[in-house]
Amino acid sequence: MECDARSGAVSSWQNTDIVKHTDVVIIGAGVIGCALAYEMAQRGLRVRVCDRRAPGAGASQASAGVLAPYIEAESRSTLEQLGVRSLELFDEFLSRVVADAQQDVPYVRDGTLEVATDDSGLAGLERSWRALQEEGVECELLTTAQVREVEPMIGPLVQAGLVVRPHGAVSVRELVTALVRAALVRRAVFVDACTVRRVRGGRDAEVETDQGVFRAPTVILAAGAWGGELQLERVPAVPVRPVRGQLLALAHVSPLPQRVVWGRDCYCVPWSDGRVLVGATVEDVGFDEHATLGGVRHLAAAASRLLPGLEQAVLENVRVGLRPCSPDRLPIVGRSRRLPTLVYATGHYRNGVLLAPLTAQVVADFVSSGREDPMLEVTCPARLGDL
Ligand SMILES: Cc1cc2nc3c(=O)[nH]c(=O)nc-3n(C[C@H](O)[C@H](O)[C@H](O)COP(=O)(O)OP(=O)(O)OC[C@H]3O[C@@H](n4cnc5c(N)ncnc54)[C@H](O)[C@@H]3O)c2cc1C
Repeated sequence: MECDARSGAVSSWQNTDIVKHTDVVIIGAGVIGCALAYEMAQRGLRVRVCDRRAPGAGASQASAGVLAPYIEAESRSTLEQLGVRSLELFDEFLSRVVADAQQDVPYVRDGTLEVATDDSGLAGLERSWRALQEEGVECELLTTAQVREVEPMIGPLVQAGLVVRPHGAVSVRELVTALVRAALVRRAVFVDACTVRRVRGGRDAEVETDQGVFRAPTVILAAGAWGGELQLERVPAVPVRPVRGQLLALAHVSPLPQRVVWGRDCYCVPWSDGRVLVGATVEDVGFDEHATLGGVRHLAAAASRLLPGLEQAVLENVRVGLRPCSPDRLPIVGRSRRLPTLVYATGHYRNGVLLAPLTAQVVADFVSSGREDPMLEVTCPARLGDL
């Protein structure tokens, strides 16, 4: 099925030999593929996005949307630098998307509260606080009493807390919907229920799908955890593996936590509609997207310890996603050496939502004008082999 903004129509494709030409074909309509589609279409490129599922129905639908580089990454690491750069782009990126899509996206920047409940957690918080102070990040180390003041819902085991002010959260399902709308307004085309089988080289790449062959001078692999399954001419499989994450969506939570609360065994993300997302398991189980009793039990117990009031919440659903993990846990973004028409944008692991604005901007600039952002040096696919 193809959806085109110009006609607003959705049409069926029967002829598998049809060849259509655009400037870019993006494989995968997760948060990364959709952000790329929007940024590229905004630069005037003709973009086609293929996905076998609906947009955002891979890992992205399970994401908690936390934007927390100072928790997710080691101090002064490459991941922290990328995350902080992307976080700084978020306000401007989102306001453009919202304006083009004419759709609101829930988004907060009121910080995170990370708490310690034992001595080693306390030592860890103190280390993080010192490192953040040295980096000049706005943050406060709180005593038990101060934690209770800023978060009255906190459980009895808390020993200390660390508030990191620049952090935030975005509602990912609405973000993906808005990105698709904004990209459609900019004349991108989304082809859903479309499985990509193979990419062949040449001056223009040929993307072979079950809905025909699409040709373009640039093909972007944004297929998340499934990137390694694609057959790419003369190129070894991209080394990403799936890491399952389960997340609980709770509803009718009252009162709500004040901001994202991050504990040792889970984190809780409150939304003003009374929902709280509790994430997330980290499981090496291959391409298995089932929710499990063990996963639910682990998250429910951890959430009840962290914020005991959540015991009364309604369990709305369990979300499961496969995070795309590269061998060094950094994204794989940049041009293929062996197949120059191919550009990778995958491997964002635990931080694909956080890193979406930066990835989209860097890749769109590279494809539209050849500009090579320094990010491309550290995310270069060739660091992982003959890609
Ligand atoms: C429980 C959980 C919580 C998370 N929380 C956060 C968080 O708080 N903050 C954060 O920044 N990140 C978080 N993440 C990580 C984040 O969700 C991922 O990094 C991000 O969604 C990856 O986006 P993507 O577009 O690369 O992949 P996906 O969203 O998986 O998209 C890839 C798409 O490619 C399509 N595809 C694959 N192969 C083919 C093919 N052959 N043909 C056609 N289509 C294909 C798939 O159908 C899919 O739609 C979380 C992840 C999980 C699972």
